[in-house]
Amino acid sequence: MDDLKSKEFYQALLDKNPEYEGLFYVGVKTTGVFCRPTCPARKPKFENCEFYKTAKEALIASFRPCLRCKPLSHPNCVSDLVKILVDAVENNPEKRWKTHDFKELCSDESTARRQFKKRFGMTFVEYARSRRMGIAIKQIREGESMINAQLNIGYESSSGFKDAFAKIMGNTPSKAHLSILKAAWCDTPLGPMLSISSDEGLHLLEFADRRGLEREIERMRHKFVIIPGRNTMIDSIEQELEGYFEGSLKTFQTPIHLQGSAFQKSVWEELMRIPYGQTRSYLDQATALGSPSACRAVANANGANQLAIIIPCHRIIRLNGELGGYGGGVPRKEWLLEHEKKHEKKYEKKT
Ligand SMILES: [Zn+2]
Repeated sequence: MDDLKSKEFYQALLDKNPEYEGLFYVGVKTTGVFCRPTCPARKPKFENCEFYKTAKEALIASFRPCLRCKPLSHPNCVSDLVKILVDAVENNPEKRWKTHDFKELCSDESTARRQFKKRFGMTFVEYARSRRMGIAIKQIREGESMINAQLNIGYESSSGFKDAFAKIMGNTPSKAHLSILKAAWCDTPLGPMLSISSDEGLHLLEFADRRGLEREIERMRHKFVIIPGRNTMIDSIEQELEGYFEGSLKTFQTPIHLQGSAFQKSVWEELMRIPYGQTRSYLDQATALGSPSACRAVANANGANQLAIIIPCHRIIRLNGELGGYGGGVPRKEWLLEHEKKHEKKYEKKT
């Protein structure tokens, strides 16, 4: 969010201006909660505020809803149905809430679904996932400050450092000396992305709210230790992403590390042959791999792609021209395809 907008929102916050209800939420870094503009609590200092346009963004950034202004339940129109659902998640935010939990909690399923979606712009399961992701990110952030503190006072080899390390990753440095990956967040026009990388290559690039991202990270943690931080690979991909989103970069050069079966790798390599701005169908892709009957297996391998945008699974659409699914959500797929179409033409004109 730009500085001017932040200042405007901060003034609205000080004024408890009800006209700004729903336009922004404020995360307070000192308390870890997020509020609506009219919160009756004492107002934080400007430098401790982070402003978000949606409650979902505030959740993903690891803030929890304020108990006083209850930013997730509008004071006048929150239904009992929605309240029961939100309270259930707040009482057990780390649980992997599923659709059957939703059904158990609701006396009137279809009304609850409609009200929930209307209130939050997402389903109950998506809401619970955002909340969990926020907790995971918070743990990484807290781990980061612990490790930095230890490093700053020169305790690299102390047991304190090992404890800090183990607390975040459930692993100790001695066990982990082989493979340490760094994880960093970067903002894009389509929302925050997470990159995870070794010194040799990028292992993961995903939208922070992607379905199943936590499980992907969990799987990686079985093989690697992941700590917050940066390396040259992360610097490189962030710079390239900037170019990509500006429309000036069409091919990524940052080294990548593909982790999957031989078949999955062949599918991903085939994806990377689809030129910028163009699309293929699953059938095209399966045929290119020499097995036109393997459409489903190809689709599954596309879904297992951990390097969004770089391995352009967004360029695969249905045979009938419909967009089909996308791990980062169909609106993002649509945006990416339009973006590439626009800049592909520009490029052709110039050359
Ligand atoms: Zn509040």
